[in-house]
Amino acid sequence: MLDDLESILFSREQIADRVQEVGRTISRDYASTQPLVIGVLKGAFVFLADLVRRIDIPVEIDFMAISSYGASTKSSGVVKIIKDLDVPVEGRHVLVVEDIVDTGMTLSYLRDVLLRRGAASVKIVTAFDKPARRVVAIAPDYCCFEVPNAFLVGYGLDYSERYRHLPCVGVLRPDIYSGE
Ligand code: 5GP
Repeated sequence: MLDDLESILFSREQIADRVQEVGRTISRDYASTQPLVIGVLKGAFVFLADLVRRIDIPVEIDFMAISSYGASTKSSGVVKIIKDLDVPVEGRHVLVVEDIVDTGMTLSYLRDVLLRRGAASVKIVTAFDKPARRVVAIAPDYCCFEVPNAFLVGYGLDYSERYRHLPCVGVLRPDIYSGE
């Protein structure tokens, strides 16, 4: 599977170190609250699992699924809730956990929905940020790594549902998806 990568951007160890730092910062910033941590499926499940084990204050965890890329490497621009939360967000301090912020459309939509539902605050934590691709003005509040404008897989990120379980993150070889 690693043969399908053109390059590795961050190793398992580099990611683990950075996630630990971000977890510490979040624990400090949210010390007096019990935030509701919302994972955006499917991509965020790996990062969320690592991150919450580095947070040493009480948290609640829930998930949402939002449509984004489908099986393609290009954004459809269509954002829609596929799986909603099990708990109400009214009055809650919400921390949305994303795998990667790209155009920003998914997160700006999600943030608006959560604020409209009465969340006390909404902050965003992302494993990776690709600022060069931003279409909507939105910046993550916490970010592990800024990444270049390339199609990445691993650490939760997929191509056609593959590669999510790679412990590192890297650039997928273009010949793997050039037939699209
Ligand atoms: P946005 O709404 O910010 O354009 O899209 C965010 C979503 O697009 C991410 O949650 C992720 O599912 C997908 N995405 C964006 N960039 C990449 C990438 O480099 N690799 C993969 N596998 N998915 C990406």
